Amino acid sequence: MTDVVLITGAGIGIGRAAALAFAAAGHHVVVTDVLEPEGRAVVAEIAAAGGRAEFHRLDVRSTEAADALVADIEARHGRIDIIVANAGIAHKVPLSELSDDKWDHTLDIDLKGIFRVIRPALPGMKARRKGAIVALSSIMGVAYGWDEHVHYSAAKAGVVGLVRGLGVELARDGIRVNGVAPGYIRTAQLLSKEHSVGPDADKCGEYIPMGRIGEPEDIADVILFLASDAARYMTGQVVVVDGGLLVGRY
Ligand code: NDP
Repeated sequence: MTDVVLITGAGIGIGRAAALAFAAAGHHVVVTDVLEPEGRAVVAEIAAAGGRAEFHRLDVRSTEAADALVADIEARHGRIDIIVANAGIAHKVPLSELSDDKWDHTLDIDLKGIFRVIRPALPGMKARRKGAIVALSSIMGVAYGWDEHVHYSAAKAGVVGLVRGLGVELARDGIRVNGVAPGYIRTAQLLSKEHSVGPDADKCGEYIPMGRIGEPEDIADVILFLASDAARYMTGQVVVVDGGLLVGRY
C-alpha cells in the first residue's frame, strides 16, 4: 500500500535522498524545506521518474506552520503514515561566542523542530494505529563530542532521548519511533568549510574502516528500512550508520 511520507529538510542532502528513496519505493512523498527551488526540484525529479510527490515550504521553527501543514496533508490525503524528521543545522560556534540566541537557534531546529512535526501527526496515527517516525541524530550526539559544536552535540544527544521517550509512550498505539545517527556523509553540511570538515571531506575516509565517507543514499536506505514493516519490532533505537567509524577507532 502507498504510504504518505512527510520529510523535512528534503530539498538537499540526506532529506533529498530519502525523498527519492521513498518515492522509488512507491510512496507519496511530501517534500518540505526552507529551500524552495531545491524542494521543488526534488518533486520534479520524482515526477519525472514516475513517482508521486508534492512540495510545501516548511520552516520547522514554526509550530503554527507545522500544525497547519499536517492538518492540510491529512485533509487531502486522509493520513500521514511516515515522518522523516531530518531538517538540521550544524553551525560552528566556539564556546566563547555561544550566546543564548545561538544555542536556542540550533536547539529550536535540531531538537524542537523534530518534535514540532511529530506532535500534530500523533492523534491521526493513534486513531489509525499506524505510524513510523525516523529522526536524524548524529555520531556527534551518540558517541563523539564535537568541539565548537556543543549546542549541536547537545541537540543530537537530545534526539536520542526524544526517540526513546516517544518510542515507549507510543508503542501500544502502533507507532514506532527510531533514529539514525550518521557518520561523515557527503552533503552541504559536511562540505561546509565554515562549519564542518570542508570540501576535502574525502580525506576522512582514511580513518573510516570502510575507507570512504558516506553518501546520502547510504543513510536514506536505512531510513527507508526503519520506516518499513521490515523493522516492525524495532522502536526507540538510534542506528549508527558510519562505515564502522565508531567501532573501528582505538
Ligand atoms: P543539509 O544541510 O545538506 O540539509 C539540511 C536541510 O535542512 C537543508 O535544506 C536546510 O536548509 C534545511 N533546514 C535548515 N533549517 C531548517 C528549518 N528551520 N526548517 C526546515 N528546514 C531547514 O544537511 P544533511 O543532509 O547533511 O543533514 C540532514 C540531517 O542529518 C541533519 O539533521 C544533520 O544534522 C544530520 N546529520 C548529517 C551528517 C552529515 O555528515 N552530513 C552527519 C550526522 C547527522 P539550509 O541549507 O538553508 O540550512
